[in-house]
Amino acid sequence: MKVGIIRCLQTEDICPGTACFLVTKDGKGAFQETGPVDIVGFVTCGGCPGKRVIPRAKMLIDKGAEAIVLSSCMSKGNPIGYPCPHFANIRDAVMKVVGPDIPIIEWTH
Ligand code: SF4
Repeated sequence: MKVGIIRCLQTEDICPGTACFLVTKDGKGAFQETGPVDIVGFVTCGGCPGKRVIPRAKMLIDKGAEAIVLSSCMSKGNPIGYPCPHFANIRDAVMKVVGPDIPIIEWTH
């Protein structure tokens, strides 16, 4: 499976995405069911309040993503325990733009 990952821009200063790359490569964490996946793109939300996820999710689909992944820095607040306050809106906006055939994975590790 090919996935596109969207992450928190505010978290870039403290996390380069290392754990996300490991769990996708090894089929661990959120990818235990899918097995190892290929990353077609690894982008940020564009900054608060995350409205840029809409064109970015479309771009990831255009690049071949079969699922959109919202990383754990957004949904769980890794690594500092500070989840995105806009997560529900971002997830719903992504679901709307990609349509019912593209699954949304709401965490990574
Ligand atoms: S909108 Fe959420 S995911 Fe994006 S930078 Fe702000 S806190 Fe991070």
